[in-house]
Formats: sequence, structure tokens, C-alpha cells
Amino acid sequence: MKVVVAEHAGFCWGVKRVVQMTERLAREASGGKEIYTYGPLIHNCAVIERLARAGVRVLEGEVSSEMLCRLGPRAVVVLRAHGVGPDELAMLRAAGIEIVDGTCPHVHGIQERVAAAHARGREVVILGDEGHAEVIGLLGFCEGKGVVVGSLEQVDRVDVSKPLTVVAQSTLDGKTFERLTKWLREHARDVEIEDTRCEATARTQAEAVELCKVVDIMVVVGGRNSANTNRLVQLCRDRGTRTVHVEGAGELQREDFLGKEIVGVTAGSSTPDWIIAEVVERLRSW
Ligand code: SF4
Repeated sequence: MKVVVAEHAGFCWGVKRVVQMTERLAREASGGKEIYTYGPLIHNCAVIERLARAGVRVLEGEVSSEMLCRLGPRAVVVLRAHGVGPDELAMLRAAGIEIVDGTCPHVHGIQERVAAAHARGREVVILGDEGHAEVIGLLGFCEGKGVVVGSLEQVDRVDVSKPLTVVAQSTLDGKTFERLTKWLREHARDVEIEDTRCEATARTQAEAVELCKVVDIMVVVGGRNSANTNRLVQLCRDRGTRTVHVEGAGELQREDFLGKEIVGVTAGSSTPDWIIAEVVERLRSW
């Protein structure tokens, strides 16, 4: 059985940056500093457990100012690659917490575009997953007045008579972006479309689609709660390729691969190299 691994499978540069930043902080923490992340740093349990062993704690659930005040003067809070809205940032600052900004620079760029469009009096339309941390953060930059659209079934949320500025969640897939922007171009009176999808995600998705053409089965490695991993799984299945989604090597089932000659492997942007390597090693051993 031949195993072909996508060239850019796994951590994107934004995730790699924030994970390294947090690991370094944990290593160099002095004077009794306590490191927290603002929510789970990435959608990967193995990485979260590894960080926990290094002393990094997670602020879970809805973070309130009371919760922050209880953290004490030695707390350092790392912001995730998804970023946060201005209100959350203000709350952290008001609590006197030391902040380490791990927001991906690409996401910062989208936040700036949202704020600029809102300041010009335009209605902001965010193409993406309602409830995703990045999207919630982006909404904060237009004072919660933007509209989130994730599929054609949701386009009736948009008031097409208003001047619209459209941005995309960084990890939105190309097909959904094309479908939604086509509809908006056809129906809106005044629409500006900013393609804010991240190249790293687009590249991983394109590689997965290409791999589907030459393999008998695809393995997608990543957290079940990772939106971009689930999107990779969906993209492969949409191509009619038999696709297995695993969080790690331990979940691979030998019988799925019986009679298969070529196996493709890709991974979501929150999957570290060592987990991909374990999956590949297991497959090659078969
Ligand atoms: S997918 Fe792109 S935008 Fe999102 S964290 Fe990674 S590099 Fe940044």
C-alpha cells in the first residue's frame, strides 16, 4: 500500500506561530507567572494536553470580568489565532491582565477591513460559520451589526438594498465562497467583495482535491471539533472519494484499507506533525 501525504498537511503558519509562542511562554515563565489561553488554543486535544502538562491553563466557556479579576496579578492570557472582538480585549485590559496577542496576522487584516467598512456606513456580510470564534470576533469589529451567512439557505438574512461589504472567514472553502458571492453580485444593489480567505487553507483544500483524483482512499487527520478539518473531510467526500476521519493513529481500522493500493493523507490546520507522522507510520506498516 502506497501512502501519499499532502505537502501542506497540518499546522498552518498562524497556528504554528501561536502554539510556539505559548510553548515559549510556558518554558520561560518566571516570577510565578500563570499562563492561560483565551479558550482552547486549537481544536486538538493532544496539543491541549501537552500544553497542560507544561502548565498552560485554559479559560473555558464565556469569560467574564469577574472571572478575570479572580485570576490574580501574575496571570498572562494568550489570545488564540482566531482573535477576539474589541469588547473582549477591553475587558482583559480593564482587568489589568497581561495579554499576549496570538491572533493570526491574516485574521487581524480581516478585522481591519470589517472595521473600515463599518466606519464607512456599509453593512458587513461575513461569509462563514455562525458561532465560530473567528466570526464572533469579526462581528465585534462592526459592533455586532454584521450579518453572517454560511449557505444559500441563509442569504435571506441580507438586506440587499443596503450598501454591502462582504468578507469571508479565513477558512471558508472556495466552492461556498463562489456560490455565495455569485448570489450577492446578482441580487445586491451595491456590493464590495473582499476575498479574505487564507491562502494556507485554500492550498490545503486544493491539495486534498488533487489527491482525491489519484488515491483509493483518503485519511483526514484532525479534531472532530475542528471546522477546517471537517471541511477537508467534506471536500473529499464530495469528490466521491472514500474518506476516513481520524484524530490519531489509534482510530485507524485495518479493514478500511484492505485491497487499497494508494492512500492519501491530509490534515487540518490544528493537527501537529507528530500526529500526522504516527498515522503515516501505521499506514505504511500495513
Ligand atoms: S488558517 Fe490562515 S488565517 Fe487561519 S490561523 Fe492559519 S494562517 Fe492564519
